[in-house]
Amino acid sequence: MIPDENFICVPEVPGPTKEEIRCLVMCKAQITNNDVVVDVGCGSGGITVESALRAKKVYAIDKKTDAVKLTKDNLIKHKVSGKVQLMEGDALEILDDLQSFDVLLVGGSSGDLPLILSLGYEKLKKGGKIIVLSILLETKVEAVDTLKKLGMKPEIIEIFIAKGKIMSRGTMMKGRNPITIISSVKPSK
Ligand code: SAH
Repeated sequence: MIPDENFICVPEVPGPTKEEIRCLVMCKAQITNNDVVVDVGCGSGGITVESALRAKKVYAIDKKTDAVKLTKDNLIKHKVSGKVQLMEGDALEILDDLQSFDVLLVGGSSGDLPLILSLGYEKLKKGGKIIVLSILLETKVEAVDTLKKLGMKPEIIEIFIAKGKIMSRGTMMKGRNPITIISSVKPSK
């Protein structure tokens, strides 16, 4: 896993997803070198870079120009830009143009999550995975409801991480924002 400080960051773009969270997302996604991955809402490229290190091909989508540019810089820094196609625009429009894929990762949806998941499910290969990262209560509920309606059995994990900050008198444990990872597999039959 790439340490957080090895990513280029800019204040205008969210991410990169913290190392410990990226680790769990990769654990759930189980990306192999035959997989085609779609990363919706690539932000700083944290999840895109980790996916590109493991996958055959990654499509990274973001509606913000700054995010696409920063993801590109991080892909170059980590020498994986050859495997990634960056796509600027709204996830729904871009997903519509894509062929089938093995893994769909959703890190941003701007209120369109049910539609993104439904469209993504149609394009997802049998046995493929959908993984949603969510910080908003509403998005968690939407993700679980939509995946269930699509016939999937979502697994939900909520992660609370505290990191130690070494001070002169001892180590202060500082909590990070909780985040939920909702993962599901498209049935093979
Ligand atoms: N996983 C990223 C951080 C994602 S932040 C990382 O590790 O760096 C969420 C991103 O989703 C933002 O950059 C936002 O612009 C993008 N986003 C939100 N809704 C979107 C949509 N409907 N289509 C495309 N991008 C979207």
